[in-house]
Amino acid sequence: MSTGHISIDLDAIISNWRTLDKMTTAETGAVVKADGYGLGAGTVAKALAKAGARRFFVAVAEEGAAIRQALGSGPEISVFSGHMRGDTDMIGDLELTPLLNSIDQVSRHFEALPGKPFGIQLDTGMNRLGMEWDEWGAIAEIALAQHPTLVMSHLACADEPDHPMNAYQLDVFHQMTDGITVPRSLSATGGILLGKEYHFDVTRPGIGLYGGLPFAQAKTVVQMDLPVVQIRRLDAGEVVGYANAWQAERPSRIATVSSGYADGLIRAMSDKAMLYYGNEPCPLIGRVSMDLITVDVTDLSEEPHALTILGPQQSVDQLAKAAGTIGYEILTSLGPRYSRRTRGG
Ligand SMILES: *Cc1c(COP(=O)(O)O)cnc(C)c1O
Repeated sequence: MSTGHISIDLDAIISNWRTLDKMTTAETGAVVKADGYGLGAGTVAKALAKAGARRFFVAVAEEGAAIRQALGSGPEISVFSGHMRGDTDMIGDLELTPLLNSIDQVSRHFEALPGKPFGIQLDTGMNRLGMEWDEWGAIAEIALAQHPTLVMSHLACADEPDHPMNAYQLDVFHQMTDGITVPRSLSATGGILLGKEYHFDVTRPGIGLYGGLPFAQAKTVVQMDLPVVQIRRLDAGEVVGYANAWQAERPSRIATVSSGYADGLIRAMSDKAMLYYGNEPCPLIGRVSMDLITVDVTDLSEEPHALTILGPQQSVDQLAKAAGTIGYEILTSLGPRYSRRTRGG
């Protein structure tokens, strides 16, 4: 086998969902956008539906269509980008629930699909998606009369518990929604951890399900092993890879490993990331190239056939830190060349 291998533990995803569910008295949804954070939206959604999830969230209607195919009718599938031009057939035929972001979207939905489900997204300060005060003020009464499934907003700084933006957005959300009888939702993974005043009626965890921070208690979901193509011996002074970016300071053994930036091992990992042989760390040295990385295995007592880059030894966030990014980006960058196996569920 010449490509890397990703093993995805559905039981760990289910366990993470249940743990997040137990932290609130709200209904716990599941965010499966970006192909389930790169891990397979259909299989993840099916496993979580079996575990009891009834509300799923995606970024765009096309993703919702794929989830509907996987789940059949029944579970609610809400679309963060709302009802965009060209989405009407998909939303109508596949019973998707657009989270309407503007008066334009409200008009489009009410005209094209009268009586069909929808939710409302409000902007409480992030300035990315959702209706602002004046828009909501103008349309709230008309929209609420049509019984939206959800009124939601999104926190910009929930992964920083002490950030004053959290309390500010909470206050704005209260002012925009207090007194309505429609279910309300403010929190993704980070908001769940902020405490019960942030939970409202429905939560929308994503990254926590997949084993990422800020949900530090999360079970490991992904193991990724990369095959060694060859191992060579270098004398002190020899160089490795593009731009001669690494030079041996001692006689060394260097493993050439199959996986590169085309597979999501971003180039910023050059000379920074760590791989593991069992529990023994082996540093990535030199430049990450498109299909290959080079790893210093001098200190191993054996010649490895494969090295682990994600697993119990190293979380997505630890690998992300080495590359100056976040776990979300590591997961959603994992490329199509890997072989994948899903366990449990
Ligand atoms: C991505 C997203 C979520 C999930 O966020 P996590 O931090 O992954 O839990 C929830 N709500 C909205 C609007 C999102 O865009």
